[in-house]
Amino acid sequence: MPDIPEYSRAPEAQLRVGLIGNPVAHSYSPRFQQAALDALGISAVYELWQTAPEELPRRIASLLDEHCLGANVTIPYKEAVLPLLDTVDPLARCIGAVNTIVHQDGYLHGYNTDAPGLLYTLAEQSIGELQAGGITGRLQESPLLSLSGYTVVLLGAGGAARSAAFSVAGAHVTRLIIVNRHLERAQRLAGEVQQSSSCQVFSLSDPNFLIPHPKSIIINATPVGMQAAHKQAEIEEQEEASPLPVDVLARFAPDTFVLDLVYNPIQTRLLVQARMLGLRAVNGLPMLLHQGSLAFTLWTGWPAPLEVMRAALIQGI
Ligand code: NAP
Repeated sequence: MPDIPEYSRAPEAQLRVGLIGNPVAHSYSPRFQQAALDALGISAVYELWQTAPEELPRRIASLLDEHCLGANVTIPYKEAVLPLLDTVDPLARCIGAVNTIVHQDGYLHGYNTDAPGLLYTLAEQSIGELQAGGITGRLQESPLLSLSGYTVVLLGAGGAARSAAFSVAGAHVTRLIIVNRHLERAQRLAGEVQQSSSCQVFSLSDPNFLIPHPKSIIINATPVGMQAAHKQAEIEEQEEASPLPVDVLARFAPDTFVLDLVYNPIQTRLLVQARMLGLRAVNGLPMLLHQGSLAFTLWTGWPAPLEVMRAALIQGI
């Protein structure tokens, strides 16, 4: 255990940490981050920092306040913050996205905890083989998990998909298949991760070419199935949809694991269909929890109280 942090002995100096994004009101992060801070007796408040694009540089500069621990970063700024930071962790640099900023001694350091958060989620589901050292809570222990022998079918090639692709490639996945609406974007991502994994790409409009391999992990990293923030007809349609036709899903072996990164609603069409086919399927809440617990440790230097955070996250959903 580290020494009792200085700040927990000085309750009069309330510390701050928060979420930078646009929009942020819907976020579940305050719920479980505040519970973790309170559980460890850290005198800090987790805030929502709604930020317009023109305010971003000033917002990032405000993190240098002596009472600020740092921030989480969400849509649409995960890429835009990189040039505003003093250092960027090599994994976050590869992915091209930062979701956690740590303020330390007048410097701002950027990390990506989505990528290891995904591996923690798989490990928790007994997917892959834990390597020596296992779950350490440290970001740079690589590989945490070996996915040798597994095939990952990654739906999407945006920000979340990039984190997933680099994390599973770092875990030595045997085969990575990227399926995206715009094929060129999938090809670009495949080219970037190619060195460490065998990689194929397909168009989401033609998933019939997908050959199901044993020990497959299907990861939905598209927003298809996500609850609509604004009820426009097209978005409502998206909420009812699945990114993978059920007849394609039905071809996969019974040992296939489905991870939908969408967590609102907690049960998407993809998850319902996978479970009806007898496949193991999990939503995006565990990954949200793990990326958050890794961020907590980066800000505070303390192991995150994972079960406190999990209970706070689930409460009220
Ligand atoms: P993003 O950067 O905007 O990427 C979106 C991806 O989805 C792109 O590949 C895009 O394809 C594809 N896509 C978008 N709309 C589509 C549609 N109607 N049909 C087919 N494909 C579509 O978004 P992101 O940040 O990666 O987020 C993706 C999802 O992951 C969101 O639901 C987000 O909430 C979730 N997420 C969850 C966690 C977690 O902790 N659980 C963390 C991060 C993200 P094109 O390239 O063809 O446009």
